Order: sequence, then structure tokens, then C-alpha cells
Amino acid sequence: MAEPEMDEEFPFDINPMYEGERVRKAGMYVELGGPNSPGFELVLFEPDPEKITDGKVTLIGPDLSEMEEGGQYPYAMIYRVYGEQIEKDLEPVIERRNHEFQGYLQGYMHLNQRSEIWVRISKDALKKGLKSLSQIAKASITLFKAELPFIEKMEATYITDEAEVLKRLEEANKIYEARDLRVRDIHDEDVDEFYQCTLCQSFAPTNVCVVSPDRTALCGAMNWFDSRAAARVDPEGPNAPIPKGACIDPIGGEYTGVNEAAVKLSGGEFTAIKLHSFLERPHTSCGCFEVAGFYIPEVDGIGWVHRGSRVADTPIGLPFSSIASSVGGGKQVEGFLGIGIQYFYSPKFIQYDGGWQRVVWMASDLKERVKDAIPPEFWDKIATEEDVKNVNELRDFLRDVEHPVMTGVVRAADGVQITNGWAAPAAVAAVAEAGVARAAGAELPGGALLAAETRSPVPLAHLLQAGGGSPMTIVLKDADIRIGKIIIKKREASSRERDL
Ligand code: SF4
Repeated sequence: MAEPEMDEEFPFDINPMYEGERVRKAGMYVELGGPNSPGFELVLFEPDPEKITDGKVTLIGPDLSEMEEGGQYPYAMIYRVYGEQIEKDLEPVIERRNHEFQGYLQGYMHLNQRSEIWVRISKDALKKGLKSLSQIAKASITLFKAELPFIEKMEATYITDEAEVLKRLEEANKIYEARDLRVRDIHDEDVDEFYQCTLCQSFAPTNVCVVSPDRTALCGAMNWFDSRAAARVDPEGPNAPIPKGACIDPIGGEYTGVNEAAVKLSGGEFTAIKLHSFLERPHTSCGCFEVAGFYIPEVDGIGWVHRGSRVADTPIGLPFSSIASSVGGGKQVEGFLGIGIQYFYSPKFIQYDGGWQRVVWMASDLKERVKDAIPPEFWDKIATEEDVKNVNELRDFLRDVEHPVMTGVVRAADGVQITNGWAAPAAVAAVAEAGVARAAGAELPGGALLAAETRSPVPLAHLLQAGGGSPMTIVLKDADIRIGKIIIKKREASSRERDL
């Protein structure tokens, strides 16, 4: 990090070591934005330098001294920037760095992006002398200009007045939407390079973020165009090209270049990533994803819930926050996946695992939000919390609507049957045996051949029933195992062994 030139003394430390610092509720002075109040951040390019007063800060609404301790308030951070090298394409790139730079401020926690921002300011920061949000805005501008020298002029408007935040949020949402639409007409096969982003490695060191045309970043803030613009203008920054290399698997979205990047960026933790897979070698997830997906083994399908959903519990009994803690941290977890909202609109949306044919449940507010991404024939087949409360009810629902997971999913991309369904009791055993058979590419009872390379998680109980005494290997990844007591007995040799 370049040493920022400070025009003024700030009453808090500014240092990258504070990145990832959490302000817990007990130590919090106020919360801005977040799950309970509207908020957003936005960067706008101003082509006329005369229209920007460099370093100017405007605050609309109550300042920190007028807020109650422990209170929750709306919060908007709008920056206007000018620079000869800056184009409109760079707006989201600069905007995403707000998360990084504000993370350097001691006693100030910044999470998420766009209209999901969640800020907390600690009591300690106020004890040290922080008095005003203008000081935060000034420190942020200083950091932006020190780290991104192509920004020649920058001013900030911070808003805490609720009506004003809501009014400007409507405008911001239109801008976010226009950015998202740009990438819908370009696909992975149309380009030679994808882009990496290492911004979140500060708190998720093994995270490997790969942004491709068909897979917008899981934070939702960076699409392929944005990442390309960032890599060009700031080659030393967090975004860099990943040459695709050879395509190993066009359906899973596996490329030699991406696998090499996975090894390099994760320090050898991960050796392969399939960009469009959920259950095998999925993309890693840091902590910023907009939506969490979770595999439901009892119905061999996938559910989705988003950050900020008003739905308290999913059918597996966990809220977004618990699922997110299973997924986050830069891990590659087969059976859980963090994605950006825009990935629902990708024609390659988890196509390795059957795409929309595999989606069995969505939080109702998420389903409504991405309504136009859902193929009409699946709309009534996807349950929400209004239809089912638990996995048993979900199973009945899926049976009633004749969901493809019940009878078996045939992957649209290549016509391969990837699941065998669970409609009849015998089929449940077949699904379980599939877990064993897939590894060997074996033919399944009933004659269906599942894709040999697919490794869907199968409930352990099903596996044990299906094993029938034949040797099997069970691999437990990232499992917590508690053992109360172990009894070790000497095994009696069999008569055959005694004969040898
Ligand atoms: S989620 Fe990925 S793309 Fe978004 S900021 Fe983090 S590392 Fe970058």
C-alpha cells in the first residue's frame, strides 16, 4: 500500500491490518445500512472536471453526534470521480474498492457491496475522537486517491436521512441493473481470458475468485467487463487476466488456465475449479456472496437463499447466516455454493448439475426477484417457505408437482442422465448406489448409466444401506467428528485365514 498523504490528522489509525476487523454488537456505537436499514454505495464518473470540487464532503442527515448509541440508521455513500483515464466502465471497479479502503479504518467495519452494505462504528472509535462521518468520508477519499492515482478529483456525499437514502437508492438500483445487463450477451466461449480478483483474500486467504462472462463475481459487484477494465487501468491491483488455456470440460466450465490459477491463488489448497458446477469442484466462496445455495440430499435437489432475505429458515432448518458460515472463508465446499444474483441469468447456471432442473426450493423474496430468470416451466415446481416448512413437506411437494429430481434429471447440455430420481422406494436405493457406482462409472440397477464423473453427495445412511457389505470408501471432508468412547477388539481370524 502506498503511504497516503494526509492533509489532516484523523483520530483513528488507518492501516491495512484492520481489514477484516469485526465490530461486535456489544462494542458498537451505531450500525449503518445492514439487514435492518436501507443503504448503498455508488461511484459515478463525472466527465467535466469543473463540476467536481476535489476532497469536498457533503453530509445529508444526522451525524454521529446526533445518533443514539446502539441505533441503526440508513446510510448512502456516493462518490463522484474525475480522471483523464477514467471511463464509465470503471465506476463499479472503483466502487468495489470502497470495501477494501474502508476496511483500513480502525473501529469501522464495512461489509458487502452495492445496496447490501453493512457498516458498524465502534464505541472505541468515538472514544478516540471520531466525531463525524465527514472524517470517514475524507479518510476514504485520501485512500482512494493514494491507491488509485488515475483518480484526479473526487468528492463524496454521505446520506443518513432515510427519505433521501430511499430516493437515491431507486436511482442507484437502475444503475446497478444497467451494469448487469451489459454482460448478458457475451459468453465464456467468446473470450480468451477470464479475470481473477484477490480483493477478498485479506479475510479468505484461499479464495479463488474467477470472473467469466457467464459467471459474474459472487459479490455481484464485478462482471467480466468491469474486471477487464480494472486489470487494464490498475495492473498491480487485485484484478488480473487468467488466460483460459484448454477447455477440459465445456459443461462444467473447467479450463487448464483456471486450474493453474486455482493452485497459484489458493497456495495449492485447490487444484481444480469447475465454474458451472455445484456438486463437484465448485467455485470457492469468500464471505461476500449475494446468495447461498445448499444441497438437500433427501430430495437430491438444491435450495437458494439470499443475504437480506426476510425468510427466517430454509427447509433444512438453517437461516442464511448459518449456511453462509458453512460456505464462506474461501473454501471449496461440495454441496454449498455462494453466487452473485446475476448468475441465475446465465445460460450456464450450474449446468453441470442439471441447471434449473435441480432447483427445488428458493426463498420467496429471491424467487420473486429473479422471476424473469426462471424458465416458466419450472416456476410452479420450485417450492418456497410458503409451500413447505421442512424436508418432508418438500419431498411431498416435489412429488405432487412431478419435479424432475423425483424421476431423474437428464442434463440438457448433453442429454446425459445425471440422477436416477427417488419416486419409488427402489429408486431411493438406486440413487444411493449411484454414489458408489458413479465413482467407477458402473451401470446402475434398472439400466440407467449415470455420468461417471458426477459425485453428488449421498446421505450416509443411504450409502450404508446400499453398500450391502461390499467394500466402500467414505471420504469425510471438513467434518467435525466427536467420539465419546472407542472399544478396540481383536478380530478373530476367519477359517480361511487360519488355513493360510
Ligand atoms: S467476491 Fe470476488 S470479485 Fe468480489 S470483491 Fe471479493 S474477491 Fe473480488
